[in-house]
Amino acid sequence: MTTQTRYIFVTGGVMSSLGKGLTAASLAAVLQARGFSVTLQKLDPYLNVDPGTMSPFQHGEVYVTDDGTETDLDLGHYERFTGVQGDEHTNYTTGQIYQKILSKERRGDYLGATVQVVPHVTNEIKDCIRQHEGKADFALVEIGGTVGDIESDAFIEGIRQFAMEEGWKNCLFMHLTYAPYIKCVGEVKTKPTQHAVQTLLQRGLRADIVVVRSDDDLPENERRKIAMFTGLDEKCVISCPDSDSIYRVPVNLHEHGLDEAVLSHFKLEAPQPDLTNWKEVGDTYVNPPQTVRISVVGKYVQLGDAYKSLNESLVHGGLAHRTGVEIDFVDSEALENYTDEEIALRFEGTGGILVPGAFGSRGTEGKIKAVKYAREHKIPYFGICMGMQLACVEFARHVAGLEGAGSTEFNEDFGVPAHPIIGLMTEWQTEKGSEVRDETTDLGGTMRLGAYPCTLKEGYLAREAYEQENISERHRHRYEFNNTYRDQLSDAGLTFSGLSPDGTLVEIVEIKDHPWFVAVQFHPEFKSQPHKAHPLFAKFVEASIQHQAEKAQPKAA
Ligand code: GLN
Repeated sequence: MTTQTRYIFVTGGVMSSLGKGLTAASLAAVLQARGFSVTLQKLDPYLNVDPGTMSPFQHGEVYVTDDGTETDLDLGHYERFTGVQGDEHTNYTTGQIYQKILSKERRGDYLGATVQVVPHVTNEIKDCIRQHEGKADFALVEIGGTVGDIESDAFIEGIRQFAMEEGWKNCLFMHLTYAPYIKCVGEVKTKPTQHAVQTLLQRGLRADIVVVRSDDDLPENERRKIAMFTGLDEKCVISCPDSDSIYRVPVNLHEHGLDEAVLSHFKLEAPQPDLTNWKEVGDTYVNPPQTVRISVVGKYVQLGDAYKSLNESLVHGGLAHRTGVEIDFVDSEALENYTDEEIALRFEGTGGILVPGAFGSRGTEGKIKAVKYAREHKIPYFGICMGMQLACVEFARHVAGLEGAGSTEFNEDFGVPAHPIIGLMTEWQTEKGSEVRDETTDLGGTMRLGAYPCTLKEGYLAREAYEQENISERHRHRYEFNNTYRDQLSDAGLTFSGLSPDGTLVEIVEIKDHPWFVAVQFHPEFKSQPHKAHPLFAKFVEASIQHQAEKAQPKAA
């Protein structure tokens, strides 16, 4: 028997950045806690076909799923909050939908008919949503952007038609709005919400639930007013005030009656949810008994969203030890001009140093200085992707004596390195056969993307963290460790503690005689959850807490 899926469409009014993604993810988490299964999907009105090529400066990080889909960062929230893994059907952009339609048109699939937004684009949108049919009790579908925008109209029409075909009783429309507080009159205003609901009505959709974002709890009077003007039951107007932590949102929404309103809309009953773990996570996050400082050395330091999953994973690592993590972003380019004394000053008091993923040569010499400092001063070091590649380069240059060691990724800026420790691997074997890459394919087309297996060597830090031999982690990179140098670096003391099952790809390196130096070719930050910190993040933060505590001890006389 297939599951009957009920659809919850999440739209936004008034303005963007109200937290639709977080609200959808939080509702999904509460529904799970009430015993239901969920899937999540995001439909994005922008035209980019490949979110993988969008700038992290503008758009935040690129999130990667197991199947190698590069997507919007909201999918990270979905996975972190629910543990439900996304795939190629989780995120669709207008660009992707048009691309499908245009290639069908080129193939002659439309038999020369006029190709139009209605029905062709809307049909394609409905097909995207149907990918989730039968997979879970609830399919939550978030529509990016703000209702009323030119860009999102086809999606709104698509979900309207979807509800007509699917049956309105199987669908719920949840609209997020904003009620501003006007200081000089001391009032919370409901008019933008009234208008937002009307804007949706003009497009043939009546909101079943309105979630009203505001600075503080929405006063009862205003809630009643919104209910009256929108024709909704008061129980369906949910106040969602700003929260001091995203981890409190599931509990807050539950306490404001959101899941109850959803279930009563669908005439479903279920036991009350046990949200103890969310409460614990929220409380520890807001009032941690202790904190640790971690220095993240990167080039996108001015935009927090560029390292969304990384920041979250560090927080999770801290939560596992009831510790708050204070992330100190260090601009890698600035480090390049620092003297040794200035570097020491910059990292004074830090518990650990992390170099995250990146593309291109900018700031890499600064990152290498950070790795060197961490290695020599025995500060816990965690390298991720680029952070692993540069750890290998640093080790080659300063320990193995390979002067001029580098990565061929930087050839254009730095010239061909004397020792290409990191280079392009043009062919390798997977369970599916051999995969080939070269520099002439489309931008993004040459990456090793998605989940790959890795075997961990007994007796090393990675194996100790994972407590198992075989793991799978997500990748997003073009370059690899160059095996020509494996013996040389190994003789000099670098340990290859994680390899692809056939032994050809280096996935993890470690350094002996160091409290915690682990660098990985993959992106563990895509698989961490608030109540289930990724083992490497948990161990790195643990080592950092220890290091910070040792440093804080007054030196013995
Ligand atoms: N630029 C490097 C590569 O392509 C590292 C990528 C990353 O850190 N995500 O291999």
